[in-house]
Amino acid sequence: MTAPHPQINHTQPPLKADHGHIPGTAILKVTNLTVRYESGTALEQISFELNTGERMAVVGPNGAGKSTLFKIIAGVMKSEGSSVKVFGAEPRGHICIAYLPQRSQVDWNFPASVSDVVMMGRTRRVGYLRWPSNADREIVKNALETVGMQDLAARQINQLSGGQQQRMFIARALAQEAELMLMDEPFTGLDTPSQDELFSVLDTLRSRKVTVMVALHDLKLAAERFDRVMLLNHRLVGLGTPADVFREETLNQAYGDHIQVLVHEQQVSVIDDTCCGEDGHSHA
Ligand code: ADP
Ligand code: MG
Repeated sequence: MTAPHPQINHTQPPLKADHGHIPGTAILKVTNLTVRYESGTALEQISFELNTGERMAVVGPNGAGKSTLFKIIAGVMKSEGSSVKVFGAEPRGHICIAYLPQRSQVDWNFPASVSDVVMMGRTRRVGYLRWPSNADREIVKNALETVGMQDLAARQINQLSGGQQQRMFIARALAQEAELMLMDEPFTGLDTPSQDELFSVLDTLRSRKVTVMVALHDLKLAAERFDRVMLLNHRLVGLGTPADVFREETLNQAYGDHIQVLVHEQQVSVIDDTCCGEDGHSHA
């Protein structure tokens, strides 16, 4: 048995004050969030709350605003007004949130080892102008154990498989002691065994009351493995249990005629009809 992970051990003095956590407030509360790029509106009037420890899937077609939503919540991008609250305060600078980018957006040729990257989670927490302490090294080691990568600590990041890359990001978020993890398309491009490994890490996170939001494409995975699902297409089309949200008419509202959705006894099948078909569907 490994020792309890320090990630949610609040009996230790905080290394850096958590920014304005207001007791009794939701881990995340989004109210009427609207985000516009020059090219158009990415998110419109989005409102929802997350409960501590829940695992929510965010699904919707390409360009629906999933990544934008995560970046706003993480404070990577600024929203108009103060429509996003994390523990009752503005998201910017919250050390308790970790944004895990899409793997395709990362320069994997950057010369770094797995433990270098995971240690970045400590650096974020305790500041740059300090050498890692033994306690930091121990936390990094525990984080790697949690994601089953203790034997890969010295490996260069460009030598990792997709599943290992994703689990390394989770280890970094654990080292940061994040309480809310926003994972952008972590399952995309992973084979089934790697997806299963990732889910077993997500189960561990759940047992530690870490709150997780996952953007994903695969409606079947969302339906089978998540507590709640959010169906997004610029607007919030549906939010609730998979059984509530994954109804044919709701899905068609989000995806339009780009896909054909079949729902049968809570099983969701998606038939992509954008590329083929003798009658030549047109989506111009
Ligand atoms: P998703 O992650 O669901 O695919 P995004 O949040 O990436 O959606 O994009 C939502 C919309 O905002 C899309 O129409 C996209 O083209 C646009 N968009 C995303 N990022 C930018 C940006 N940096 N500048 C301008 N438009 C953007
Ligand atoms: Mg995206």
